[in-house]
Amino acid sequence: MIDLAALTIAEARKKLDGKVFSAVDLAQAYLTEIEKKNKELNAYLEVYDDVLEQAKAADEMIAKGESHPLLGIPLAIKDVILIKDRKVSAASKILENYKASYDATVILKLKKQGVVFLGRTNTDEFAMGGSTENSAFGVTKNPHDTSRVSGGSSGGSVVAVASNMALGALGSDTGGSVREPAAFCGIVGFKPTYGRVSRYGLIAMGSSLDCIGEIAKNVRDAEIIYNAVKGRDDLDSTTISDETYPKVFSKDKLVIGIPYDFALGEGVSPEVRENFKQAVEKLKKFGFKIKDISLKNVDMSLAVYYIIMPAEVSTNLARFDGVRYGLHKDGKNLFDDYKLTKGAGFGKEVRRRILIGTYVLSAGYYDAYYGKAQLIRDALKEEFNKTFNKVDLIATPTTPDTAWKIGEKSDPLSAYLADIFTVTANILGIPAISLPSGFIETEDKKLPLGIQFMAPHGAEDLLFDVGKVFEAIKDN
Ligand code: GLN
Repeated sequence: MIDLAALTIAEARKKLDGKVFSAVDLAQAYLTEIEKKNKELNAYLEVYDDVLEQAKAADEMIAKGESHPLLGIPLAIKDVILIKDRKVSAASKILENYKASYDATVILKLKKQGVVFLGRTNTDEFAMGGSTENSAFGVTKNPHDTSRVSGGSSGGSVVAVASNMALGALGSDTGGSVREPAAFCGIVGFKPTYGRVSRYGLIAMGSSLDCIGEIAKNVRDAEIIYNAVKGRDDLDSTTISDETYPKVFSKDKLVIGIPYDFALGEGVSPEVRENFKQAVEKLKKFGFKIKDISLKNVDMSLAVYYIIMPAEVSTNLARFDGVRYGLHKDGKNLFDDYKLTKGAGFGKEVRRRILIGTYVLSAGYYDAYYGKAQLIRDALKEEFNKTFNKVDLIATPTTPDTAWKIGEKSDPLSAYLADIFTVTANILGIPAISLPSGFIETEDKKLPLGIQFMAPHGAEDLLFDVGKVFEAIKDN
């Protein structure tokens, strides 16, 4: 029996190479766990029927003496990343039976390493949401309390990892979709610098914000997956190379900026405030320099995000017209075809965002909304650039509260507010990580919380450094 709860990618690598167990043994152990838990948790929309064959191929590579960090490692993939000849639906009826005709760049890279793909995981429809309640195929439940949401939109990937149904996973993060569910489920969620990981083969949501992110049980594992998928890609002209940003060297005493007014501000639950203060104390005690900073524009991030993101959504989703991809409904004429197809294919939240996006981009309103949002985006950039001259990292809670009860946030605005701490990193394109920071007890259940660190463009390494330290000191 393999102890999956205690297993990490780094350890599995050693055990696979040392023939303690085979990739087939490992894959079988995960399949057994999935069989036991997935029905209740709904993390996977599909478990692939060739998992053991993939594992066998990995074993053959190992037998030949090949060794890659992720060879034979079973991973879960969010249902917005294309794997050739497999279904990819973005958890939407409009793509329900759509099969990918090519591999995403990240998938090609993982295939070369001999990764075992377990299946595709649930998400809010087209990644729009923070709970997976917007999936057309049912909610993913939180393993710490199944009456609560997993968070989202990468809830399926996060729950797969948090409940030992995968050793690691890929998600996508447009406004927090990797970090927020990771915080809600007590694991690590990492969003790299914009352009660090190719978006080729990722179903687009907001193209200036989208990032493929890594989900794992600890920081080292997230770093391993990140190293496997990152890199400049000719198929995505927004990708960057290692040289794009100056290398940031870690130093002995990193300075961590805390925007106290924001981090402990209105709408943040008392438990989150307390947990965050304790985390900061621990960082201080360890020797980090803590600096009180003020970010005047950051309050506007959420408004900026909820204008720019739907604007980009409305243009990106125009392609799903029932002619080129997926679902098709026949009407009286072409316009009627569109209407029927989109009406039947898109859920409520997706339609809402397309409508808002179309509105903010329309001729009469462009300057008042989209134009203004871009101006504030510039002001935010300047503010953060200046701040990063004074501090190495910025820390906030990941979310203003714990995972909510399924169905509790039925009005969209209250769900949007949960994104208050995560959207800024996407607006600016900077890297950010969410780390487990402890639990709070509610109704006899222990619900996880997360702390978020943000770093300047290209400074992923600082996040891994501080993350590993925080992991070691958080329980002291
Ligand atoms: N929760 C945010 C939203 O609803 C973020 C989504 C994401 O990152 N894909 O837009």
